[in-house]
Amino acid sequence: MMVGEFEHKKVTIEIDPNGGIWFRAEDKKAGPFDSLTDAKLGVVAKELGVSEKDVLLAKCKFREQMTAKVEYDNLGLVKGYKCPICGSELKFSHQDDIGNVWLKCEKGHYARKPAFGAS
Ligand SMILES: [Zn+2]
Repeated sequence: MMVGEFEHKKVTIEIDPNGGIWFRAEDKKAGPFDSLTDAKLGVVAKELGVSEKDVLLAKCKFREQMTAKVEYDNLGLVKGYKCPICGSELKFSHQDDIGNVWLKCEKGHYARKPAFGAS
């Protein structure tokens, strides 16, 4: 929907080299948070001066973009994970407080390991 597409651009989410998650809207910043779950909609929205819907849309978009691409071998087994941003191979980084496994590529991008790829 056009309105949603426009609104999520008000809020951007960044990960710093320490893995901290930052929310930004123009010159305002909120964070760092250890995980997306720690960043409560109402708190972030208030700090940034945007609506909770803007924050929610940004979080949804971020989750989608941050999910590792799964590579399969000829037998359909998981062979490895590729960075959704640059396409490099991803390696284990850390597990967050809600059980998500985070992977990291050689260029320092983070990506979440998809739950269905767990074996
Ligand atoms: Zn990368």
